[in-house]
Amino acid sequence: MRTPLIAGNWKMNGSADLVEAFGRAFAEAELPDGLEVAIFPPFPYLEAARRAFAETPIGLGAQTLNPLHSGAHTGEVSGRMLCEFGVRYALVGHSERRQLYRESDEQVYDRLLAALGVDLIPVLCVGETLEERDAGRTMEVVLRQVGFVMSRLEPQQRSRVVIAYEPVWAIGTGRTATPQQAQEVMAAIRDYQASFDAELASAMRLLYGGSMNAGNAGELLSQPDIDGGLVGGASLKVDDFLAICQSAG
Ligand code: PEP
Repeated sequence: MRTPLIAGNWKMNGSADLVEAFGRAFAEAELPDGLEVAIFPPFPYLEAARRAFAETPIGLGAQTLNPLHSGAHTGEVSGRMLCEFGVRYALVGHSERRQLYRESDEQVYDRLLAALGVDLIPVLCVGETLEERDAGRTMEVVLRQVGFVMSRLEPQQRSRVVIAYEPVWAIGTGRTATPQQAQEVMAAIRDYQASFDAELASAMRLLYGGSMNAGNAGELLSQPDIDGGLVGGASLKVDDFLAICQSAG
């Protein structure tokens, strides 16, 4: 059995008040047994979130990290620093970082390795653009992104990685992949993993991301290869995010 994970990526959004509101709501919320919940706020809110979420099941995540521990890298944050703030997860390879900050597969791999090196759980984001989907290249693109990273890891490292399939055309657009479209790609990711190690593949957690909301989460999460969600916009509203968590039961 795989532990479901609902992760909220706030991107460059949120506020100190929102952190407090999540703390209050989740301290009292009834959540499905065994569900893991995580919020990835912007760096400045990590300390406030650590305090506000202390009595809740919410784990803390970082939206990126630098591959190095320290040094002359103005504006960057290392995994070691994140650990000092109680962070458990780190996103790597989010499509906004790939597109807006030109992060290559190599850089994504370096960040993921750094996360593993300090015992963070990396959430590796992969997904095709609309142009790639329309050209029939979805599987090729997604499996290249997954394969670039996973083929370079030791089996014991691979077992710690969570993969988020996020079709780029569905992120922040209100256009969700159908449960069938998501399931098809996610089954292919699991099959690809099985070519390394079948046991590991069946234990690996796969999240869907792309305009997931309270209305569509239930059907997406009921697909056999979808073990949770990476939620952007809907993770900025306490009630919506709570409803998504509740539909993961
Ligand atoms: C994301 O940013 O990872 C995401 C899935 O965003 P949204 O839910 O807003 O599409």
